[in-house]
Amino acid sequence: MALTGLEIYKQLPKKNCGECGTPTCLAFAMALASGKGSLDACPYVTDEAREALDSASAPPIKAIKFGNGSVMGDETVLFRHDKTFYHPTTLLIEIADTLSAEEVQAKLDEIKSLEFDRVGLHYTIDGVAVVDASGSPEQFAKAVAQVAAGTERSLLLLSNNADALQAALPGVADRKPLIGSATEANYEAVVNLAKEHNVPVIIKAEGLDALADLVEKAQKLGYKEFVLDPGARTPSQTLASLTHCRRLAIKKKFRPFGYPVIAFTSKAEPLAEITEASTYVAKYASAIVLKASAKAHILPLMALRQNLYTDPQKPIQVEPVLHTVGEVNENSPIYITTNFSLTYYSVEGEVEASKIPSYILPVDTDGTSVLTAYAAGKFEPEKIADVLAKSGVADKVNHRNLIIPGYVAVISGKLQEISGWKVIVGPRESSGIVSFTRAM
Ligand code: SF4
Repeated sequence: MALTGLEIYKQLPKKNCGECGTPTCLAFAMALASGKGSLDACPYVTDEAREALDSASAPPIKAIKFGNGSVMGDETVLFRHDKTFYHPTTLLIEIADTLSAEEVQAKLDEIKSLEFDRVGLHYTIDGVAVVDASGSPEQFAKAVAQVAAGTERSLLLLSNNADALQAALPGVADRKPLIGSATEANYEAVVNLAKEHNVPVIIKAEGLDALADLVEKAQKLGYKEFVLDPGARTPSQTLASLTHCRRLAIKKKFRPFGYPVIAFTSKAEPLAEITEASTYVAKYASAIVLKASAKAHILPLMALRQNLYTDPQKPIQVEPVLHTVGEVNENSPIYITTNFSLTYYSVEGEVEASKIPSYILPVDTDGTSVLTAYAAGKFEPEKIADVLAKSGVADKVNHRNLIIPGYVAVISGKLQEISGWKVIVGPRESSGIVSFTRAM
């Protein structure tokens, strides 16, 4: 349970020196209790007090880093609209160690091809989970070595056999893989192995009570780089476990669940599996191990993840400068839109499909769409005329024609008057651009 401000105050030095940035120790204690400060700001706190205050000053869910830049956890809210989600769910694709070397290579090639560009951002699959399906430590170590040599993605070494992990980990420890799983039966060996190689480890138990007990026992080994696996393997149980873990960590500051949680899909059919994984992305998996590896299946999952893990208060935006599509020339048309990424890239995609090299001039509307920007007074004729004049596009074309979104046809007259350009009202939706250009 979280400590109250007064409980924290009792542990502080009571110098009231203000060096922590708050005028008194009591004010600092209140700030810590509400999660708004770090104990590190007080230079006089004793080691004993630091240990006692750990639960008050630590983030509700510890950040766990592994592999090639993968970060899990460090979330502070239950709902995205409360603030934002920070670390997108790490997506890993499993490879069983029972596959032949050729099959493993084919799977790695498929995983390597999973790269996507969407609304100006580039995405790849985060990692590969090597699964001990053989029961043979030698075979597991061999598969891990082949996967490590064949991919730069983050690695998860997954076996309940401490001997298999011991055989495979030393050769790839410099890649800082996530390993698992530490269970009631093997946790001392597996956690100590993780501690020895300074890699994070999955703590797995059947059910939340057993998981909390096992985490507390594992913590006593002097290591806290944990990822939790509540052992559920059906969608309903997994969703319930993920939700309970997040609620207890955020709302109750229940320290045993203050770690990222990993989920494993159960469905074999790819579309059903992606639907299942989508549920876990929304609530509240820090990592998911998948079987599906086809582009058509992974792309929608990544799009959903991207949508959930953007800051709702900061829409993704493109630079509000003159953009070109294709080999533009002095006859190229000029489209006006906003700098909201989804809007801009929808327009750009359709302009590309029209096969007419064109200019697109996104107006800075703080990342809002056309109608929202117009309603908020951010897409006004004066502003568009100003952006147009500053863009320098007038020097690049031998015409004075502008195409504006159909939704703001109402501004065409005033824009024409202010800018001196002929304003052409385009389609309302970007999907109408191709037919619009054919009719021009
Ligand atoms: Fe108190 Fe430490 Fe802040 Fe000084 S720096 S006011 S001792 S909490």
